[in-house]
Amino acid sequence: MIFTSRFAPSPTGPLHLGHAYSALLAHDLAQDRQGRFLLRIEDIDTSRARAEYEAQIYEDLTWLGVTWETPVLRQSKNMKIYRQAIDTLWKSGLIYPCTCNRRDIQAALSAPQEGVVLTGPDGPIYPGTCRHVADPDTPIPDDAALRLNMARALPLLRELRYTETGEAAGTVDFTNEDLTQTLGDIVLARRDMGTSYHLSVVLDDAAQGITDVVRGADLAEVTRIHVVLQRLLNLPTPVYHHHRLIRDETGKRLAKRDDARAIARYRAEGATPNDICAMIGLPARQALGAASSATTSPPRTAR
Ligand code: GLU
Ligand code: ZN
Repeated sequence: MIFTSRFAPSPTGPLHLGHAYSALLAHDLAQDRQGRFLLRIEDIDTSRARAEYEAQIYEDLTWLGVTWETPVLRQSKNMKIYRQAIDTLWKSGLIYPCTCNRRDIQAALSAPQEGVVLTGPDGPIYPGTCRHVADPDTPIPDDAALRLNMARALPLLRELRYTETGEAAGTVDFTNEDLTQTLGDIVLARRDMGTSYHLSVVLDDAAQGITDVVRGADLAEVTRIHVVLQRLLNLPTPVYHHHRLIRDETGKRLAKRDDARAIARYRAEGATPNDICAMIGLPARQALGAASSATTSPPRTAR
């Protein structure tokens, strides 16, 4: 199997130093392994995605010396595929409509009998207010979110593990109990988008033949959700490489709103790609003025 990695930004803000690190790492690992590197635009949240940000992504990456295969997959063009997966899960009785808003969930969780409120990567563990087995022969309502019925999914899940090749390399195992206590009935289709980050990312990684997912350690927690979906939808589980996060001087991790650390901003101030590498602790790329074709650069050792 040919090593295939990807960089999958959401065009909801400017790329910052953390994105540069992620893209360069995924790109260079693919190059070291004589593999493929793909770019995917994760623009399912049409209320936040902007064409200007997407254009800026291509520009910043090109400037950094990242090259990718075309055509680029844009998730907004892939909604049919996500819908098919939702249909499959609905027919299997594994998802149910939920009309709770944040306030309803908070209210249910603060009811006296609830005890300790557990929180997962997507927020408080859903208290199950709307949980039921929906009739698979009825149409899927389009005015509700769709949640995974974790209790019904559990007996179908085998081999709850994945291989990690990042700093904490090894096999990551988890249990049914982890899934009920730390994830619960996660949303697989948001009411406003008909899909979710989790569902789309899993389907696209599989469709694009991604063997190695390279992304920030902030996403390590949701990888268990992705493995669950891969088992339910019969998809392969790639190797995951969760890398260190780039932080500001105060140790706070960078976020989209940190425009001050946007790559475009540094560029405008005269920084070179090698300056960016120095800022994020990567070795300099090829000497300035040398041939800039990425495929002719010397092999780099894995970091
Ligand atoms: N689109 C996600 C983001 O920008 C990253 C997805 C992933 O790498 O799995 O945060
Ligand atoms: Zn609900």
